[in-house]
Amino acid sequence: MCYEEFELRKSIREKYIPFEMTDDFDQEDSCFYCNSLCYFSLLYSKQTKQIACLHHLEELGDISKIVLKERVREDDMHEVLEETRRITNAPKEWVQKLQSTLLASRKPSLKQLQQLLLEVF
Ligand SMILES: [Zn+2]
Repeated sequence: MCYEEFELRKSIREKYIPFEMTDDFDQEDSCFYCNSLCYFSLLYSKQTKQIACLHHLEELGDISKIVLKERVREDDMHEVLEETRRITNAPKEWVQKLQSTLLASRKPSLKQLQQLLLEVF
């Protein structure tokens, strides 16, 4: 995901489209053409006032009126990606811990099981 975003940003910058870092994103900004959520970055046409994802540059029209707006720097995207991986892998890791505990002993201690339960909440 990050690498596709990086490649698209790079190809857009190579077309001399100005870019700016901004927090001025609406939580619901989505591409006019494909309705995908534009979370990390978006293209904005000053001429048509339309928003597009990085895949729909060509559809926005006059390239001189387009700005690439970035909410998250590329360095920070790696952190977001790692945090997302950590959160999405947490249930799988918890199941592995539970299985290890249950396989290690026929009668795991109540304390061990309570500790595992606390990790869920
Ligand atoms: Zn799109």
